[in-house]
Amino acid sequence: MAQVKRRQSVVVDIGGVKVGGTHPIMVQSMTNTDTADVPATVNQTMALARAGSETVRVTVNTEEAARAVPKIVDTLRAFGVRVPVIGDFHYNGHILLKKYPECARALAKYRINPGNVNIGRKHDDNFRTMIECAVEYGKPVRIGVNWGSLDQTLLTALMDENARAAEPLDARAVMHLAIVESALRSAAAAERYGLPRERIILSAKVSGMQDLIDVYRQLAARCDYPLHLGLTEAGLGAKGIVSTTAALAVLLQEGIGDTIRASLTPLPNGDRTEEVLVSQQILQSLELRSFTPQVTACPGCGRTTSTFFQEMADQIQTYLREQMPVWKTRHAGVEEMKVAVMGCVVNGPGESKHANLGISLPGTFEEPVAPVYVDGRLLRTLRGEGIVAEFTGILNDYVARTYKPLEPAPEEPSEQLAGAV
Ligand code: SF4
Repeated sequence: MAQVKRRQSVVVDIGGVKVGGTHPIMVQSMTNTDTADVPATVNQTMALARAGSETVRVTVNTEEAARAVPKIVDTLRAFGVRVPVIGDFHYNGHILLKKYPECARALAKYRINPGNVNIGRKHDDNFRTMIECAVEYGKPVRIGVNWGSLDQTLLTALMDENARAAEPLDARAVMHLAIVESALRSAAAAERYGLPRERIILSAKVSGMQDLIDVYRQLAARCDYPLHLGLTEAGLGAKGIVSTTAALAVLLQEGIGDTIRASLTPLPNGDRTEEVLVSQQILQSLELRSFTPQVTACPGCGRTTSTFFQEMADQIQTYLREQMPVWKTRHAGVEEMKVAVMGCVVNGPGESKHANLGISLPGTFEEPVAPVYVDGRLLRTLRGEGIVAEFTGILNDYVARTYKPLEPAPEEPSEQLAGAV
């Protein structure tokens, strides 16, 4: 693992998952189902948890959603899925948490957006009510500021104050300050209302990468609450993934960030679990955590004119991903394995020697053989049709031999619950 000096923060327990301090940077996600639709929300929460999401957030926006929450949590537990479920509240959280105590009890954490409860105004009763619920039920909260719903009263006050200053800041800097102040003042109010600081997490999401970096640097310097990172409204496809990675990588490398989420917009009928895989890959690429064996594959070039090389790299990556749910419960440390799949002899043998296992495929006009390296030494040279099958056989032997056995795996939850609840 990389030696990144983490910022010091208090530790918060979210339904048994510890965040902050020296605990691993936690991956979280959010469902996009109608929370009132219990089967759909249970199924998606299970899929996110199986993909590796360590907490899952659901929106609690209506009375129907609040009524559904205990059923969702009970059903997950009945199927052996222990992932903490977090409630995302806006505008009416104070009403729903009061009116539906079973919902308040079932959730592992409440997310409160101070921009759309009445924090900052003369009477902040709604915010206070939500904090009092958290105190009553022993839950942590995330105070999640979002610049799309920033407290306008606070922003206006800071703008006025800035206008009177001898050396006024530019409007963007005042906006950043308002975001940071909103988070810190809300956290201070929560503590005044009785919530221990060990139950507070902060986030301050914006959609511009440079804005996000600046805001989080300020926040990190001014408090020791754990910080949840995410670039809000990151967007679709490559844009969303690249923007999220670029912003989060800078902060994580500086030791800032205790939990992360990739707020990607899925394609219609797209796979929601992509956001979990992206978060995991960010942490693994930065060598902050290991989740799955990594495949180093060269990009291919004119020396690999057939699709054989791409197909094989894909088959091996897919095989590793499919095996991981079983391997990780049976073989300690297997997630740190490195596998190289290279397209020709130019860099193939060299890169293969740096991996735990490496295969170097024949490029165009090369002899049709594929040398396999294990821990830096040539093990065997494969040839013919069955190269992928033979290589995965070598992989299996290596895993069984190298990563010591763990206790038997707990029973896996069933894949789909639709119709079962
Ligand atoms: S390893 Fe070979 S095939 Fe792959 S990019 Fe380099 S030269 Fe091309």
